[in-house]
Amino acid sequence: MRPSPQMWIGLWKSLKWLCGYTEDSVEAHSPTDKWEPFRQILRSSVTPITWQTWLADLQPDGMDGNTIYLTAPSEFHLRWVNDKHHEVIVAAVHAVFGDDAMLEMYSRPAPDYPSTDGDEEYDDLPGAVQEPSKDLKAPSRIVPTYSFENFVVGPSNRFAHAAAMAIAEQPGGQYNPLFIYAAAGLGKTHLLQAIALHARDLHPHLNVCYMSSEHFVNDFIDGIRRKRMDEFKARYRSIDIFLLDDVQFLEGKEQILEEFFHTFNTLYEAGRQLVFSSDRPPRGLANLEDRIRSRFEWGLTTDIQPPDVETRLAILHKNAAFAPQQVPEAVLQFIADRVVDNIRELEGALTRVTAYAALTHQTIDLDIAADVLQDLVPKHSTAPIAPGRILAATASAFDTTITDLEGPSRRQPLARGRQVAMYLCRELTDLSLPKIGSLFGNRDHTTVMHGIKTVKELMQTDQSLFDRVMALLQNLRESR
Ligand code: ADP
Ligand code: MG
Repeated sequence: MRPSPQMWIGLWKSLKWLCGYTEDSVEAHSPTDKWEPFRQILRSSVTPITWQTWLADLQPDGMDGNTIYLTAPSEFHLRWVNDKHHEVIVAAVHAVFGDDAMLEMYSRPAPDYPSTDGDEEYDDLPGAVQEPSKDLKAPSRIVPTYSFENFVVGPSNRFAHAAAMAIAEQPGGQYNPLFIYAAAGLGKTHLLQAIALHARDLHPHLNVCYMSSEHFVNDFIDGIRRKRMDEFKARYRSIDIFLLDDVQFLEGKEQILEEFFHTFNTLYEAGRQLVFSSDRPPRGLANLEDRIRSRFEWGLTTDIQPPDVETRLAILHKNAAFAPQQVPEAVLQFIADRVVDNIRELEGALTRVTAYAALTHQTIDLDIAADVLQDLVPKHSTAPIAPGRILAATASAFDTTITDLEGPSRRQPLARGRQVAMYLCRELTDLSLPKIGSLFGNRDHTTVMHGIKTVKELMQTDQSLFDRVMALLQNLRESR
């Protein structure tokens, strides 16, 4: 008998435990002894299924002043919880920690493949990448497997990969700073850490520092609290290669940005290498001062796109090599067809299939994959999105009507809305350019091409357009 989804969740948890990864002693991280009451309130506020599936896996990751930190097992999980259950979690936080309490949630690093040794996977390499302030509660981690050798190169990330390699080989050269941006789960952290690992091999005398922006912020706050700002400054200013991950996290944090600005200038002027990652291009970071935004753009800015199907398959093949049993090609193809825009989820899907088969002593086949993934990645089916829905959503976002989108008028903002709808059709359907043209009052395919190109270019410079398009993409994908 195959386990039901609920049983499967339990099995999945025991597997995590068997594999030793990374939920070492929840209680050790517990912000206060209020964690258990908090869980109980939360649990009683939702259905058992919601609790089991989404909320039971949130873990405390400390408390800083009024802020409660919770972590989710994956980026996907985090997004879901933020979307659907944020209010109820905040209510429980207030009920237990007081009305002033604030909530911050982020995702835990993806677990390594079960066959690796869980104890070492997030440890720093001995003597490798230098970590300022080892005693911080959430130190940035270097994952030894985030190397260039393990990074599959395809059209979607070729440029970012080449720039990252060039930097590891010749830090402080022509690409300074390097700014890499991409949506979650597309390899930013992997690439930054690959630079750190490779640079350390090539230049052992250099002081290489990889750090999450969150860690930078914590370190700064810690410096102020302990009145050790001189130490903080000296530490950062001795770095030769500074890799700062997820700089969107710095947005709106004025005091920290001031310090960051000076750190940037000192390092840059001394010819040190700077590398940043973000979920948006520099222009999209609205709550940063111009002087910082423009500095991000002084060197090379590059993005990583969602991988094409060949790259997804290549990544799955690489991962499947570690699986306890052979994974049939058809299963890899099945996963590659379904999980399209997040490599972390792609890897997660494969892990779940192989883990499930191992736990239930079955041979992996398509039936098993379909069973397991139907529950766990329902939002990533490739069910095509009807163009009518794209038009309706875009019309509503641009305050116009479908008839106008199809019609001849070129007034703004209607014309821009039409170009956005063309872009979305290209991103979310398999329609050819002429087919897309036919949806918009039989426009020529070159018009469609031009429209798509315009939107792509504007998204690099126009933050409000960028936000609108991203929101539309996300909503349409989620309602698929
Ligand atoms: P991000 O920082 O952009 O959210 P990560 O760097 O954490 O994404 O990548 C998510 C997962 O996908 C990691 O396990 C990483 O190793 C894997 N990954 C991302 N890009 C690639 C790639 N090109 N080849 C192999 N694995 C990749
Ligand atoms: Mg990351």
